[in-house]
Amino acid sequence: MSYSSERRNEDQWTGDSKNGPRENEQPGYDGPPGMEPEGVIESNWDTVIETFDQMNLKDELLRGIFAYGFEKPSAIQQRAILPCVKGRDVIAQAQSGTGKTATFSISILQQIDTAVNDCQALILAPTRELAQQIQKVVIALGDFMQAQCHACIGGTNVREDMRKLEQGVHVVVGTPGRVYDMISRRALRTHCIKMFVLDEADEMLSRGFKDQIHDVFKLLCQEVQVILLSATMPNDVMDVSKCFMRDPITILVQKEELTLEGIKQFYVFVEREDWKLETLCDLYDTLSITQAVIFCNTRRKVDWLTENMHNRDFTVSAMHGDMEQRERDVIMRQFRTGSSRVLITTDLLARGIDVQQVSLVINYDIPSNRENYIHRIGRGGRFGRKGVAINFVTTDDKRTMNDIEQHYHTRIDEMPMNVADLI
Ligand code: ADP
Repeated sequence: MSYSSERRNEDQWTGDSKNGPRENEQPGYDGPPGMEPEGVIESNWDTVIETFDQMNLKDELLRGIFAYGFEKPSAIQQRAILPCVKGRDVIAQAQSGTGKTATFSISILQQIDTAVNDCQALILAPTRELAQQIQKVVIALGDFMQAQCHACIGGTNVREDMRKLEQGVHVVVGTPGRVYDMISRRALRTHCIKMFVLDEADEMLSRGFKDQIHDVFKLLCQEVQVILLSATMPNDVMDVSKCFMRDPITILVQKEELTLEGIKQFYVFVEREDWKLETLCDLYDTLSITQAVIFCNTRRKVDWLTENMHNRDFTVSAMHGDMEQRERDVIMRQFRTGSSRVLITTDLLARGIDVQQVSLVINYDIPSNRENYIHRIGRGGRFGRKGVAINFVTTDDKRTMNDIEQHYHTRIDEMPMNVADLI
């Protein structure tokens, strides 16, 4: 197979490209908790598809998606699936956990023809574990389509790999070395591969892997569609990638810096753990004027506090990672719509809460690490910089609080009597 088109020019592999993305306003996001973009979206693709139903996907695929538990596409899925399905080359960058794996898995499943017993999509990943994880997602989402996906990874039996591939699979996901080996041995035939996906592209196109990727890529058809996904896209990687992609759609979700500027931060000295509950009850009228989130450090504490507040006839809702996704969605919806006003939760969900409407945050427990402090109460510039945070501080917490103040160059004052007027 040759490597000769303009797009596959050897010299261009390390060349330069200047197709900068255009800036876009970020529309409001109402997707799965924890998966909002948390930042500015830069893209040269404007279309945002709000639901999976509107994506014109095959019925069996749609069933697979819903059966897997997805209800609504994440921000990256709303933007990237359509261009991928249309056959465009795509670069999608968003932090991990935002739904990139599902993005390309869905796009692949939509495009393959399971009546054709040949590999139609090749995914490369930097580690065996990741390749296996991807395989599981493809198989699960493609459950109702009878899609065959094989993981071609080092450290497994070569003969067995060849046997599996020769039987015919629709999708192959693997690490570059083994995949190259399988193609060289002609166990993996490339003539039907129309999609080439590089997951963790920053790592894949970095020094160590670049040549191996290049070797595999040379063996693919010239028209192959290329999709890159990554949590970060350093400029040099972006430049390299543009050399072997045709007029790519770029969807970059940049993480927004959080700031404490404009947040009024107070502490209440409760002295002992046992006195926190009384303090919270005293503050309840203040909390429920607006909407408030109360953070505890453990799930058990969330349950304990919720129960104790209920016993005292205070209306609160609670959410933590032990709950089913469905249950969390309901609680989040109630909170977003304002039908519940006080939410008790853990750090796990600090990043998933749409803090726009939350003007009051209570740290029932001071977070055990500084990063969580800013995730709980910090704001991105786009939310407008206002809000009040109240920290419950025991004798043991004093040092942690001083440490937070110093680290963020910020001030945490004693809570004034008129705190309600400040919210
Ligand atoms: P990434 O590849 O960006 O790290 P994943 O695709 O692995 O992200 O998704 C992270 C987690 O979110 C996974 O547990 C996945 O099952 C889940 N997830 C992905 N898309 C959705 C969605 N639309 N709705 C709910 N959960 C989702």
